[in-house]
Amino acid sequence: MSGTRAREIAAACDAVREAAALCRRIGAAVRDGALEKRDRSPVTLADFGSQALICRRLAEAFPDDAIVAEEDSAALREPDRAPLVERLLAELAALGFRWTADELFDAIDRGGAEAAGGRFWTLDPIDGTKGFLRGDQYAIALALIEDGRPVVAVLGCPELALGPDARPGVLAVAEAGGAARALPLDESGGPERRLQVSDVEDPHRARFCEPFEAAHSAHDRAAAVARALGIRREPLRMDSQAKYVAVAAGLAEIYLRIPRSADYREKIWDHAAGALLVERAGGRVTDIAGRPLEFTCGRTLAANAGIVASNGRFHDRIVAALS
Ligand code: AMP
Ligand code: MG
Repeated sequence: MSGTRAREIAAACDAVREAAALCRRIGAAVRDGALEKRDRSPVTLADFGSQALICRRLAEAFPDDAIVAEEDSAALREPDRAPLVERLLAELAALGFRWTADELFDAIDRGGAEAAGGRFWTLDPIDGTKGFLRGDQYAIALALIEDGRPVVAVLGCPELALGPDARPGVLAVAEAGGAARALPLDESGGPERRLQVSDVEDPHRARFCEPFEAAHSAHDRAAAVARALGIRREPLRMDSQAKYVAVAAGLAEIYLRIPRSADYREKIWDHAAGALLVERAGGRVTDIAGRPLEFTCGRTLAANAGIVASNGRFHDRIVAALS
């Protein structure tokens, strides 16, 4: 592991691996225990546990770094949630983390920094919670941002397999200026492969992916873009930033995310890691107007709308078809 941020990458990989082990452990058991957040989206014990583990590891390794993470402990602190907290503490203890409830809450809330300039981490402890609840794709997404630029990306995808014979479980890693790589999620030191976008130049042979949830992207508009470009293959619908990994690995040529309402702003933790990964695998990432993603506007990509990630061969044609 060379490069100038070897220590950051090592800590981030350890943290994401630990969180993935927790998510896998409590996966099925937690499906009946999902809570609803104020925006009506679901959150599970695994989201909270994943955030706690990763924030705790990062705080140990880099005590001065801010962490901008999706969740906070408010819902867990409510008195009627005590049984859920006990359950999560028991799951953590089974992995060797013997925490009190207050230690758990504090670890989660270590992720409550405001996104500012300079250097900070951004974390989605479970990206694609709806996929996680369905038993489909989800990702643990961690990125380091410096001066508005993602410089380290670590994406753990417990259910993703990069080939028909591959076992599910991918840890995708990228660093600014370096290559994008995929490692087995559960063995450190396992074989690694370089991630490279596909070299398909002809849209007829291209495949695009998009969110599984119709509420998260306009599937009808994406289908119209596909028709305009002559794309014939069915879209690959999947949850989470596993879509960016699919493009980086050449399983798909395009990732389209088209806002369903003009006022939705993408969250930085939904895109920082994935965008760096695709770029370092040789692809391109912009919003649907072709603008670069701006990680300088706080918790959201306020200067952008939607996402187009691609292998770069016909990116401008996709953007043109979207306008
Ligand atoms: P995906 O699995 O690609 O559908 O992305 C999951 C992410 O979608 C979640 O982490 C949310 O932050 C985000 N999300 C929630 N509501 C919306 C929405 N209305 N439009 C786009 N993205 C959304
Ligand atoms: Mg997310």
